[in-house]
Amino acid sequence: MKPIIGITCGHTPDANGRYYVNEPYVKCVEAAGGVPLLLPGMGDERDTREVMQYVDGILLPGGVDLDPVHFGEEPLEGLGTVNPEWDRLELVVARLALERDLPILGICRGIQLLNVAAGGSLYQDIPSQINGQRIQHSQRAPRWHPTHTITIERGSLLEQALGTPKARVNSFHHQAVKIPGVGFSITAKSRDGIIEGLESHSHRFACGVQWHPELMVKHYPEQLELFRKLIASATSFRQARSHDGQNREK
Ligand code: MN
Repeated sequence: MKPIIGITCGHTPDANGRYYVNEPYVKCVEAAGGVPLLLPGMGDERDTREVMQYVDGILLPGGVDLDPVHFGEEPLEGLGTVNPEWDRLELVVARLALERDLPILGICRGIQLLNVAAGGSLYQDIPSQINGQRIQHSQRAPRWHPTHTITIERGSLLEQALGTPKARVNSFHHQAVKIPGVGFSITAKSRDGIIEGLESHSHRFACGVQWHPELMVKHYPEQLELFRKLIASATSFRQARSHDGQNREK
């Protein structure tokens, strides 16, 4: 059986309310050999913990800004939309994944969420918090088009996935990782020093990227490799788990 990848749902808090995941995340999980399972926010945190027993890996997608209260800061003028319910769901999921060593991949908001779940902090708004000559991180080019360069740490999961120490990526963010969380190291940076990749050295697979590989795969198929690495790790997690289960039954 293929590994089940839980994808956390975004949320619109308007009158009709809506939980959603953009199609490309689902398609990439499928294309890489996983079964996507959508996880909505739930009123009782215990229900989220319960459903987490049925997944072999987690994908945290892109979305709105994180509430800076989760890394001990007051909101700055440049902070965008925040959604407490969405934050709550993903923080529970990410912390639990780290605790259980469940494979987890964070994309855009997802790298930021993963970092905060691990005790790290963020820039709430790059343009107002970082001086000097910055490159454009909110691109106005087509969404699949890579607009800026990143340099990738040698020997990182990211380098293994993309097979290169330098890549071009798309960019849709005004927030970014400031201080990496406990056990995480920086694996990619843009030319202006913004953190574009993170991974943990104390987990089997806990990795984040600031760009959107799921929007690039049609034109740059190598971007699917990140999803393949998540699914490979989820497969070994699943095997280890079922092995434990069999031992318990004996
Ligand atoms: Mn960028």
